[in-house]
Amino acid sequence: MNNFSYQKGTTASEVIGKATFLAGGTNLIDLLKYNLASADTLIDINAIPDYHQIEEIEDGIRLGALATNADTAYHPIIEQRYPLLSKAILAGASAQIRNMATNGGNLLQRTRCYYFYDAHAPCNKRVPGSGCSAIPGYNRNMAILGTSDQCIAVFPSDMCVALAALDAVINISGPAGERKVAFADFHRLPGDTPELDNNLQLGELITGIDLPLKGFEKNYSYLKLRDRSSYAFAMISVATGLELEAGLIKEARIALGGVAHKPWRMKEAEDYLHGKEPNKENFAAAADIILEGAVGYTHNAFKIELAKRAIIRNGMMAMDPSSHLTGAQPSA
Ligand SMILES: Cc1cc2nc3c(=O)[nH]c(=O)nc-3n(C[C@H](O)[C@H](O)[C@H](O)COP(=O)(O)OP(=O)(O)OC[C@H]3O[C@@H](n4cnc5c(N)ncnc54)[C@H](O)[C@@H]3O)c2cc1C
Ligand code: SF4
Repeated sequence: MNNFSYQKGTTASEVIGKATFLAGGTNLIDLLKYNLASADTLIDINAIPDYHQIEEIEDGIRLGALATNADTAYHPIIEQRYPLLSKAILAGASAQIRNMATNGGNLLQRTRCYYFYDAHAPCNKRVPGSGCSAIPGYNRNMAILGTSDQCIAVFPSDMCVALAALDAVINISGPAGERKVAFADFHRLPGDTPELDNNLQLGELITGIDLPLKGFEKNYSYLKLRDRSSYAFAMISVATGLELEAGLIKEARIALGGVAHKPWRMKEAEDYLHGKEPNKENFAAAADIILEGAVGYTHNAFKIELAKRAIIRNGMMAMDPSSHLTGAQPSA
């Protein structure tokens, strides 16, 4: 039994600079129970009134960090103007978890690498320098892009794949003041410091996530491939947003989940699609660019071909969003 004290914060200034924040608790409490995280003090941030809203701002929409995943996915503005995000959120977890999970917490959830969750297995992310059990071990769910010889874990969020495609911006308040971080710069690749998932500093509070005006509401699709159709993390996921002009692609965004330590985007592939017809051949060529340098391990090399096919299929689905199956996740 590890004792900790529990405090309730009611203003941001009261909690900033302190550790460890408790939001929905859907990841943190499990980590504490399995002895994979520890805290002397848990500071519950749910009573801070400022960050629960989803509101219009001058150049887009701000998602409060404490708004739940469910309230975000079903918000009329998100459903109508950012359906890619709504669909990605609803592809994750279960209805019960989405009712508790917050937007800020979703960005900071930890990997689902089996060995990370086994306190007896060597794991550089959990105990730096102890080794990586996944590289020689069972690595079916692991990364194929951006890996290092220290860690091949993937970041498991669905929501964040859509946020990456939408070029979201994260608002952070910390002891040194406020700052904004582009989504692409928030999560990290493992390199030599796999223990760091992202660039949030100790004591910093995520206050909101800004979505730019462009929501790709006409041509979008989120495709999640997984071992079970319900209540499972992505083997591969793809968020695609297309803007068309006279039948050609004016702008393309493609982000992959389940393949790397962060949502994966490749500007060269999106630039390649500019001015092209939205057809299978062009999405296949873009997929080749995105997956350039992909490396498979003993049990997951199939993910390279699977990712290519998913990119092509999702590109075609983005051309006809009305044909999508419902994104809502069946209950567990
Ligand atoms: C069984 C199960 C299945 C799941 N399936 C999926 C899935 O398919 N797809 C998917 O995307 N997710 C899935 N999830 C993960 C779920 O989405 C996350 O657990 C959830 O989003 C985390 O949000 P939370 O508010 O509960 O975070 P918490 O657990 O409260 O916190 C997580 C971390 O974030 C920190 N934190 C929280 N808010 C802030 C803030 N505002 N500022 C700074 N730090 C903060 C906490 O200190 C903690 O370190 C699943 C979870 C479970 C338990
Ligand atoms: S892949 Fe990363 S998280 Fe998994 S065992 Fe290796 S170091 Fe740990």
